[in-house]
Formats: sequence, structure tokens, C-alpha cells
Amino acid sequence: MIYADNAATTKMSQAALDTMVSVIQENYGNPSSLYSIGQQARETLEEARAAVAEVIGAQPREILFTSGGSEADNQAIRSAAEIGQKAGKKHIVSSAFEHHAVLHTLEKLKKEGFEVTLLDVHENGIVRPEEVEAAIREDTCLVTIMYANNEIGTIQPIREIGDICRKHGVLFHTDAVQAVGHIPINVAEDRIDLLSASAHKFHGPKGVGFLYARKGIRLTNLIEGGAQESGKRAGTENVPGIAAMAAALKEAAGQIEQNAAKTVQKRDRLIRGLSAIPHSALNGDAARRLPGNVNFCFEGIEGESLLLLLDDKGIEASSGSACTSGSLDPSHVLLAIGRVHDVAHGSLRLSIEGNLTDEEIDYMIRSVTEVVEYLRSFSPIWRDLESGKKPHIL
Ligand SMILES: *Cc1c(COP(=O)(O)O)cnc(C)c1O
Repeated sequence: MIYADNAATTKMSQAALDTMVSVIQENYGNPSSLYSIGQQARETLEEARAAVAEVIGAQPREILFTSGGSEADNQAIRSAAEIGQKAGKKHIVSSAFEHHAVLHTLEKLKKEGFEVTLLDVHENGIVRPEEVEAAIREDTCLVTIMYANNEIGTIQPIREIGDICRKHGVLFHTDAVQAVGHIPINVAEDRIDLLSASAHKFHGPKGVGFLYARKGIRLTNLIEGGAQESGKRAGTENVPGIAAMAAALKEAAGQIEQNAAKTVQKRDRLIRGLSAIPHSALNGDAARRLPGNVNFCFEGIEGESLLLLLDDKGIEASSGSACTSGSLDPSHVLLAIGRVHDVAHGSLRLSIEGNLTDEEIDYMIRSVTEVVEYLRSFSPIWRDLESGKKPHIL
């Protein structure tokens, strides 16, 4: 079995698992309790906060633990909107291919009277900094642009965008869920004010993540109750999950360059192999993409059938984001980079890790090539394309 859906979720690392089990078994106190095991849990929590902060170049008090990336996105955007509203600023700049945790939050804010400008991501899947600058107005309170896209893996010019936001005094949030633990990030150098991350995308457990908020930015609570997390997120802290997340992140950060270099080699071998399939196209910039992301469109086929047949061959892949599968609409990300509906339906995302062997990569190339050929052999759309009734697009 080859697991090639690491953008959807990752397997927990041994270090994360060991930490989680040991905290559950031995360190089960409530961090708000005053007796020893409570204080021991508090210590574990604060050690995790310091570890997470260090990896991204932040201060421990700038880290707020959440239930994952979606919650961090919601809280970051809601907070910036509330700060903006108080100052009479109700305009937000974002991009057309953000995660739904961002897009749906922006949709809600629109109903509350905010205006939202969604920037084009162009054919290469990259936002242009000059277009960010042009979109900023007097009443802009937030720019929210993801660090790296979850479907096509393109890495955004975060530092340039951060500089522009700082220059104009506008808060800058980035959904870095796909990037944290995979490529080096420093919130100070990148001029990031708010950043979202999720443990299960870097070999930590599901249901835990964090929000970085630069010192001085007042966060809005999404969950009311006790005074946990400096009063910004009520509820007894998920100490085992948080400790495991810190363990996973420390491990990932410690070998980030080596892992990325290894993974890029495998990625590019896979991209070369799949590019040989006729009427196929890589989605997103070939160079400015996450180390493990491969995303292709194949003309004349349905992505869903491709996935099922690949599963039969022991390859676990995706057509895009987990949130789009099961719906009939093509991916909003592929539409945003200009793929037409028919083509966008024939997509395949392989999100791999560097520990795959060359033989496994070659097996993936062979399998995808065979399955695409097989599906085309009885596809009416493919027949129309081949007979010239419809023009090929790819
Ligand atoms: C997975 C993902 C999320 C959501 O994170 P959860 O922890 O699953 O809520 C948000 N944004 C991006 C880019 C993601 O890939």
C-alpha cells in the first residue's frame, strides 16, 4: 500500500504517539488545578507552547492552542474583522483558492456588511504581490492569503505580501496549515501577524492546532467559558494532543531541509513520469510548490473513477481536497487557475513523502498511466476529443 494523501492527513510520528500515550497515562491532571499533577500538566502545556513558538520564530505568549486549522482560521479572521470594525474598516483582501475554512468565514462576514476582494491566482496558482497592494484600500482591515495551497501545493510570496501589509498598516493572516513542518517559516521575517497551523498535517494528532497572533493583537473568542488560553479560548486544554503536536513539530523542524530535499527528488521523478501521459497537465507552478505535492489533470476522464482504480492497485490518492470529494462541483482551486469544468473533473493529487523508494514512484507512474488509458478507452468525452468532434484543451 502506498499512502499518497499526506495533504489530507498524515500518520502520527512515533515521537508524537509516545508523547500522547505517556501524557494520557501519567500526566492526566487539569492544567488549571493547583495540586502537583495539575501543575505538571500546566508545565507540559507551557513547554509545548515554547517549543511550537520557537519553531516559527514567535514568543510563547503569541501561541494559542486550538482544535485545528479550521478553528485557527476562523478565529484569526473573526478577530481581525472585529478590530477592523471598531476602526470603521470593513474590507478584506483574500484569494480565490483559499481553504473553505477561510472562504466560508469570509462569506459569513459579507452577510455582516464586510466587503471582500478575492484576488486572482493566475495560471501558475500564485498570488501577485503587486495585486495585493493594488487591492488594499483605506478601509482594508485584513489580508488573508494562504502560505501554500492544499490542492496544488503552490507556495505564495508571503514575505513580499507581509511587507506590503506592514507598509500599509493592514493585518496579515496566513493559513499555513500545509506549510508548517514542511518548509521553514519565520513569522518575524515574513511579517506575519496571524498564522494558522494544524497538527495532523505534520504527523501530529487530529483535532489540535494553533493560532499565532503577534503580541498586541486582540483576539476574539469563538468559545466562551473558563479563562483558559489567556481567556481567548475556553475549555480544558487538550494536553495530550498539544504535547504530541509539539513533539511532532520539533521532530519535523529538526529535519526540515533534509526531508524537503529528499521529497522534492521523488516529487520531480513523479512529475516527469506523469507528464509523459498524453493530454495531461501539471496543476500549479512546477518549482514554487510544496516538496510533496503533485497535482495533474488528465483530459477525458473522471477523477473519482481514477481514485477507485488506483485504490485497487494499492495507491491511496485524492482528486483534491477532502472537502470537495463527494460533491459534484469541480474543485474551486482548479477553476481558480483557469481549468475548465471538464478538465477540472479529471484531477489527481498525489501528496507524497520522501521515504518512498524510486521503485514505488515508478509503480505509481505505471499505475496512473495504465488507469488513465483504461478509463479513456471507454470514455465518450475522450472519443469526442480523439475524433476531433471536440478540441483538445490540454
Ligand atoms: C487541512 C487544512 C485546514 C483545516 O485544518 P483542520 O485541522 O483539519 O481543521 C485548513 N487549511 C488548509 C490549507 C488545510 O490544508
